[in-house]
Order: sequence, then C-alpha cells, then structure tokens
Amino acid sequence: MRAGQEHDLGAAIAAVRERIRRAALRVGRAPQEVTLIGVTKTVGLETVAEAIRHGLRDFGENRVQEFVPKQQAFPGVRWHFIGRLQTNKVNAVVGRAHLIHSLDRWRLAEYIDGRAQRLGIEVPVLLQVNVAGESAKAGIAPAEVADFLGDVQRLRGLRVEGLMTIAPESDNVEEARPVFRMLRELLEQHRARGYANAPLRLLSMGMTQDFEVAVEEGAHLVRVGRAIFGPREEEGAAWG
Ligand SMILES: *Cc1c(COP(=O)(O)O)cnc(C)c1O
Repeated sequence: MRAGQEHDLGAAIAAVRERIRRAALRVGRAPQEVTLIGVTKTVGLETVAEAIRHGLRDFGENRVQEFVPKQQAFPGVRWHFIGRLQTNKVNAVVGRAHLIHSLDRWRLAEYIDGRAQRLGIEVPVLLQVNVAGESAKAGIAPAEVADFLGDVQRLRGLRVEGLMTIAPESDNVEEARPVFRMLRELLEQHRARGYANAPLRLLSMGMTQDFEVAVEEGAHLVRVGRAIFGPREEEGAAWG
C-alpha cells in the first residue's frame, strides 16, 4: 500500500473484477474476455507483490524508469507499457513488455521495428488513437489509421494487435461512450481490410473513471490504477 494509508488491496481488486463482470454481463459479453491490468505507477514493489498474491497477473506502467525495475523484480507476470515512449528508451522496453499499448507515431514504429529485428522477435503493439482530438494527448488521428497500418506492413518486427485510447476526463462517464464506440468501429473497419501484420483483435480502453462503460463498448483490456491502488499523490506527467 502507499505509505501511511490503510487500503485493502484484495477487496479493491475483487470489487473492480466484480464491476467488470457486471458490465460485461449487461451487454451479453463473457467476463473472461476482459483482462484487468493493474496500473502501478507510483506504487511500490511490496504492493505489486501483494497484488500478485491476490491473483492479479497483468500490470501496466507508463514510465520506463518504473517499468524496468518492476518487470525485472516480477518477470513471471505480464508487464504492459502504456505511456508515451521516447525513441531513446525503446531498447529498455522491447523484449520486456508483454504488449506496448502506446504506439503513437511513425518514428517510434521504426525504432521498435529496428530493435525487434536485431533481437529476432516480433513485437506486439497497440496503435494509440486520439479519438477525441485532444491536443494535449498522444495518439494518431482516426483519419490517419488506415495510412499508418498500410505503412506498418513494411515493418516486419511489429504486429499490431489492436487499438488503444484514453477518453477525455469528464464528470459525466457517458461522455466516454462515443469515444470508446468509435475506437471499436475503427478496429472492426480496419480488421476487415486484412493487413498483413495487424490482426487487430484487441481494444485497450477504460480507466478508473470509465472502465465499466469501456467494457460495455467492447474493451478487452482495461487499465485501472486508482480504483485498485488508491489515489496517487503526485500526477506528474502521468498522462504521457
Ligand atoms: C495512469 C494511467 C491509467 C490508469 O489511470 P487510473 O485513473 O489510475 O485508473 C490508464 N492508462 C494510462 C495510459 C495511464 O497513464
């Protein structure tokens, strides 16, 4: 737990799992289609260990300096990289990440591909889409997805498993729904085009504020921090 706080981690994880289950059942989805990723930014190693004891197996980090030590401390669980990735940090993440959720520009694709080819691996990634067109957020525009996926076919070190988005912050959770719906429509449209190295089967969407709506709209991966680990003291550049 975070210093000085009483927090029942097991109960929090169970409560989030139950909310995911109910959201899935509301729309006739199988709850096991949805993977809960515990976002551990600013959370210490002891708490990660405790979350693993409570059965959590997928973890997300948005900063390389937290991602690397946590992945090295707990290599037996899946570590997702979910934040803005600088090209000079690509080598630290490729080969360690179960999935990189935040491919948001062409130069990054080339760097990941270069590293992948040197390691002789194919790196699973999600394309981050800035559905709402917020200027402060990363991600490619919906209208650019087709060209991006077309170009990515030349990079044999990448495999685009799906799409990721971050909905705008809002007091009204329903405002996230059209954003998530559009991401699902983009996934379906582009999957139908059959790109060589883009199976496009996963949607990463939904955080503490809106993960139930995301599940209702088809999320396969929800990235939940505060609802599991409690509020964060410093936010810093958390939204990468
Ligand atoms: C921090 C973060 C999350 C989790 O946010 P919470 O509000 O704590 O659930 C999800 N996705 C990304 C990309 C993040 O940076």
